[in-house]
Amino acid sequence: MQFHDLHAQYIALKDEIDAGIASVAESGRFILGPQVTQLENELAADVGRKHCVTCGNGTDALTLALMVLGVGEGDAVFVPDFTYFATAGTASFLGAAVYPVDIDLHTFNMRPAALEAAVLAVEAQGIHTPKCVIPVDLFGLPADYDAIGRIAKSHGLSILEDGAQGYGGSLHGKAACSFGDIAVTSFFPAKPLGCWGDGGAVFTDSDEQDSLLRSLRANGRAEDDKYNNVRIGMNSRLDTMQAAILLPKLHALRRYELAALDAAAARYSEALRDAVTVPEVPEGYTSAWAQYTILAKDEAERNALAAHLKERGIPAMIYYPRGIHAQQAYAEQHFPDVLYPNTCRAAKCVLSLPMHPYLNEADAAAVIAAIRSFYGKN
Ligand SMILES: *Cc1c(COP(=O)(O)O)cnc(C)c1O
Repeated sequence: MQFHDLHAQYIALKDEIDAGIASVAESGRFILGPQVTQLENELAADVGRKHCVTCGNGTDALTLALMVLGVGEGDAVFVPDFTYFATAGTASFLGAAVYPVDIDLHTFNMRPAALEAAVLAVEAQGIHTPKCVIPVDLFGLPADYDAIGRIAKSHGLSILEDGAQGYGGSLHGKAACSFGDIAVTSFFPAKPLGCWGDGGAVFTDSDEQDSLLRSLRANGRAEDDKYNNVRIGMNSRLDTMQAAILLPKLHALRRYELAALDAAAARYSEALRDAVTVPEVPEGYTSAWAQYTILAKDEAERNALAAHLKERGIPAMIYYPRGIHAQQAYAEQHFPDVLYPNTCRAAKCVLSLPMHPYLNEADAAAVIAAIRSFYGKN
């Protein structure tokens, strides 16, 4: 059984993907070919943003977006404590001070009340300037942009949506990657919209940000002169081959994959609710189900359940075993565990189950049966 079955997706989309790859091979336009422009146009329209600028990976997308927002030394950047490291690491890389914020255990996303407390504490300290918040659409579920938007507005923070795991989700009918001042996603193979290598994208409604992003991803080149470099940037582009692979995958995601994910999640939740804490999708939200993550009662139970599944050939993963606050890279900051009770609990109790649009009945039934047998239920 696969945790995330990319081969099943390839088989389903083989004709379109193979044709796309062949057309790139024939054209020889491997860098910024027409498929890249087509993908950027389709992605922008798909999420309801004016512009999409693709780049080399989701980490670069975060860095580019933070550069466009002018984040740097002296600035405070607020990130959810429970996320992939890049959400925080990119802000630190640019010289900003990272402040992790505890999460809500029902959604695994940033807890707005904890954000407000963190911003007030930084304001009171007066060392760093609160500049930006990076809400993450963790496991596919959009963050609470209503509440975070109000806090950001009252404290003058810009919002960068980290939609690396969120592509395909929505809130009040608005698509993920359309929230905040600027948004990013990742096309790492295991993400809801993944390519066959590394890739990423930045989304914005601002023409100025769009031009700046296009310059920054090409070593700071001038808009009208490739060999006049007007700022310091990076080299970060999406290969044409990856764009050709992403186009049919984007169409499939909208055509049927999201519906298949919802059906798989509903089936798990129905069958497991009386045994473990199942993930919640609050009213008004839809999830892209990057992960289907359950909570066990405590660490010992989680570890025993993980071992029980492994013995039965069922892959399950721990996303994530520690919060940002507990990463060794931030040891000098001495972020105390007591500020992050929910992240600490999540890190001990989470377990992500096999989840993808091609999960078949037999595999889903096997996962369910194995978990129910662990809890002595039938
Ligand atoms: C995967 C991921 C990233 C980084 O994306 P890459 O393409 O792997 O660089 C950033 N943030 C989150 C929340 C992610 O899950």
